[in-house]
Amino acid sequence: ETIGRHFDHIAGRFPDRPALVVRHQDIRLSYAELRQRVDTLAAGFIALGLKPGDRIGIWSPNNLEWVLTQFATAKAGLILVNINPAYRSHELEYAINKVGCAALILSPALKTSNYLDILREIAPELDTCAPGELKSGKLPTLRTVIRLGTDKTPGMLNFADVEQAATAQAIEQLHALAAVLQFDDPINIQFTSGTTGSPKGATLTHHNILNNGFFIGEAMRLTEIDRLCIPVPFYHCFGMVLGNLACLTHGSCIVIPSEAFDPLAVLQTVEAEKCTGLHGVPTMFIAILGHADFKSFDLSSLRTGIMAGSPCPIEVMRKVIQDMHQSEITIAYGMTETSPVSFQSSATDPLERRVSTVGRIHPHVEVKIIDTDGAIVAPGVTGELLTRGYSVMRGYWGDDANTAATIDAARWMHTGDLATIDAGGYCNIVGRIKDLVIRGGENIYPREIEEFLYTHPGIADVQVFGIPDSKYGECLCAWIKVRAESSLSEHEVLQFCKGKIAHYKVPGHIRFVEEYPMTVTGKVQKFIMRQAMIDELG
Ligand code: ATP
Ligand code: MG
Repeated sequence: ETIGRHFDHIAGRFPDRPALVVRHQDIRLSYAELRQRVDTLAAGFIALGLKPGDRIGIWSPNNLEWVLTQFATAKAGLILVNINPAYRSHELEYAINKVGCAALILSPALKTSNYLDILREIAPELDTCAPGELKSGKLPTLRTVIRLGTDKTPGMLNFADVEQAATAQAIEQLHALAAVLQFDDPINIQFTSGTTGSPKGATLTHHNILNNGFFIGEAMRLTEIDRLCIPVPFYHCFGMVLGNLACLTHGSCIVIPSEAFDPLAVLQTVEAEKCTGLHGVPTMFIAILGHADFKSFDLSSLRTGIMAGSPCPIEVMRKVIQDMHQSEITIAYGMTETSPVSFQSSATDPLERRVSTVGRIHPHVEVKIIDTDGAIVAPGVTGELLTRGYSVMRGYWGDDANTAATIDAARWMHTGDLATIDAGGYCNIVGRIKDLVIRGGENIYPREIEEFLYTHPGIADVQVFGIPDSKYGECLCAWIKVRAESSLSEHEVLQFCKGKIAHYKVPGHIRFVEEYPMTVTGKVQKFIMRQAMIDELG
């Protein structure tokens, strides 16, 4: 099935149920109303001359228009290209040219930067061209620029112009297209988070992400009465698949608390909208739980949600279940390249197990864990995780060499993650191959040290990583965020480790920091911290 046909099916089944709430834009749409807006926009794209297979970028934080564009591009057969709202001119130029975007939708401004100005820097031709007829030296494929809002800007259309372009003829073409589009057409290019280096563009089909969204919603037991608060970015699979597509496939309501993550907006939204679900990466839950007014909000409507993206300290998970009422929250493991989820815990798993593993394999996905020689390891033994099935991407757009290095001839996706799977099928993510530290011949998994240090009452958050060392090959660094009311010295941290963990696991370099370098998806970028330590230590 295509996303468009599925959308019509759900909208036909639940026309009057709430589909979308956007708090910061004061928007409330039922499924019938959402369908109307999506069809109009899709017909507008067709009227502009965009054809199935054309790439159209969206460079914007979370809002109504993002959701409309996600579903309208699917209906029109366009390939939606998610562009990270944190990108600036150099990265934007790279992304547009990498996939050959014919059109770009952008938001006018974010607190820190003006997107229109950034684009004009790369494409000064915008000031003099007619809308839809851009010819830019630096962005050779880009013809049409669409800005959000209703303002008129030289060289650009605005979002309302596109909706108004939807003629009766374009609507007819849209209906004809519904029968022609195939479930395995590419529909989306998503860039990976860039946690370990430059983001890669994963090419995904209707079949890939629609089915993954469906199975995620099943695992969350979503129905048409659920209201899911989504503070994670739509630019990333977490927002657009675990959020929007899990809701769409179950007739649930998408609730957007703010443009970019804001813990207070989440607390207010969950209370006011009586949300039943809330997604987040661990750092978001840490920020919500740590908000000064946390206790004054009534979060008792919450039942479920997903914590994913990076390892979650067990203490945080316990608090989310106890203090945020998310008794059925699950952990999911996945990657952009696999649509994304491959493992998910079940709401019925006992708490201990749910907090300590990423659960069991998703339906219709295969997995194996191999050693460095490619042989399958025994249950419980650590090795590289490989996955195969409907969810594996087509490949990295325009990067055959990288695709071939990642998906092998038998179609196994090499995740680059180290994991174990026990006899009961429960998977534990040990860390990334790239983050494994080998100090004097001993394998050290940074996550184990992070979990240990996190049990210190004065430590709010901690990141552990390795850097090259002339004596031991590699040595361990810890960057620690201290709790607001505490003070902590390096000596105290070392005393805390003494006698509790092996000497070689005790960090050789400890730094106290306020912030970590992060991706917009809320993941800590250890490669940047590693470089900072190398630079500092000379
Ligand atoms: P890049 O590939 O650009 O370096 P990235 O791998 O962080 O960035 P994503 O596709 O967003 O990009 O994230 C997938 C990765 O996130 C996984 O390969 C895994 O390392 C990590 N991950 C996802 N879920 C979990 C989880 N539940 N527990 C631990 N790690 C997780
Ligand atoms: Mg990755």
